[in-house]
Amino acid sequence: MDKKEELDKLKREAIEADLPLKSGATQMVFGDGNIGSSLFFLGEAPGFFEDQKGIPFVGRAGKLLNETLEGIGIRRPEIWISNIIYYRPPENRDPSPEEIEAFKIFVDRQIEIIDPKIIVTLGRFSMAKFGSGMKISQVHGKPRWILFNQKKRVLIPMYHPAAALRSTNLLNAFKSDFDNIPKVITKIENMVLESKKGNSEQITLF
Ligand code: URA
Repeated sequence: MDKKEELDKLKREAIEADLPLKSGATQMVFGDGNIGSSLFFLGEAPGFFEDQKGIPFVGRAGKLLNETLEGIGIRRPEIWISNIIYYRPPENRDPSPEEIEAFKIFVDRQIEIIDPKIIVTLGRFSMAKFGSGMKISQVHGKPRWILFNQKKRVLIPMYHPAAALRSTNLLNAFKSDFDNIPKVITKIENMVLESKKGNSEQITLF
């Protein structure tokens, strides 16, 4: 099976699964974008517009995300984007630990299939998936190595764009954190080139 077939199969399985929040939602919001991307953006949960359209980040937070991406020369269709919860929570409340746990197998599998080199988390809930004890106010914008599905990848924790819309300070931090992404991509590309040449020592880059 190729990536597209694997993702389609996973989506069908998720739609058929007895997942929390399903009964109150219009539809599942699974993931969207370029399946070949090395950048995986992981948000929290669908809101009103995402629930209506079945696509992640199409409301106000998504507009800010798209504009900020364009500011660093990345078009939204170039990335892959999804959430840790696939159905809209009522009144956009925070997801519960049980809800996050219930979606985990699908979220993990989706990351495995896309197999990104860089995972950008949006907000504290998706960041917490990759380790407890991180405080978003301290680690936002700072790339770090993680091991996910037995592969080293770069995690970049970011503020959630919806939080950035509520505070000028967070908006400034959100935008300047994004300015780092092209540097991280270049470093990763250089590492891949070096390892192809047999110089696999280039791993302490950040
Ligand atoms: N906020 C999220 O975390 N995800 C979306 O898809 C939309 C808003």
